[in-house]
Amino acid sequence: MDAMSQPAQPSVFTRIVAREIPADIVFENERIIAFKDIQPQAAVHLLVVPKTEQYSNVTQLAAADPALLAEVVAIAKQLAERYCDGEYRLVFNEGASVGQTVFHVHAHVLGGGLAEGSLGQ
Ligand code: 5GP
Repeated sequence: MDAMSQPAQPSVFTRIVAREIPADIVFENERIIAFKDIQPQAAVHLLVVPKTEQYSNVTQLAAADPALLAEVVAIAKQLAERYCDGEYRLVFNEGASVGQTVFHVHAHVLGGGLAEGSLGQ
């Protein structure tokens, strides 16, 4: 097999699903996994991740599988109920220029004392 036909490397999140990389997993079902962010940016910082890595970003996910996106949001809410009284910020980065580093769609669930009006700073 030449270099051009090598399969792409699995994403870091696929490796967490496969238990090749340890993570503090807080939720899992057939289609979705959620775990604590390794570099938290809030008192509560979870990632909710569809197990499939076929979608790089939320726009692709919304177009191809809106039910899966709705499930991501529902699980984010359930986790926010458990970890930060149900109030939370849901962030999807899309594009390197706004900080996306993992191109396997994921939602950031942020909560627990966020400063009001801090969005985008
Ligand atoms: P992005 O910047 O792509 O929206 O978010 C990627 C997030 O994944 C970052 O907040 C980063 O800290 C987190 N992350 C990257 N690698 C790992 C890892 O191996 N384990 C966990 N738990 N989080 C990770």
